[in-house]
Amino acid sequence: MSEQTSSEKTCRCGHTRSNPWIVPKPSYSLFGWVLVGCGISHPPTEVRYACDKCGEVFERITSKEHLKHHIYR
Ligand SMILES: [Zn+2]
Repeated sequence: MSEQTSSEKTCRCGHTRSNPWIVPKPSYSLFGWVLVGCGISHPPTEVRYACDKCGEVFERITSKEHLKHHIYR
């Protein structure tokens, strides 16, 4: 089955978020970096899913609800 749902985005090599090539790259505000640097968990302002193979950023998450899952501890 190679059926794709509309919610599943892929990079140009066809990898989805669950592929090991795909790495989430969180972006923090300056304030966020300071907190994370001090070991305080803080949600990023944005998470980009980039493929390590082709370098394409194919998905961005900016929703606060989703970003909570990316808090580094
Ligand atoms: Zn790729």
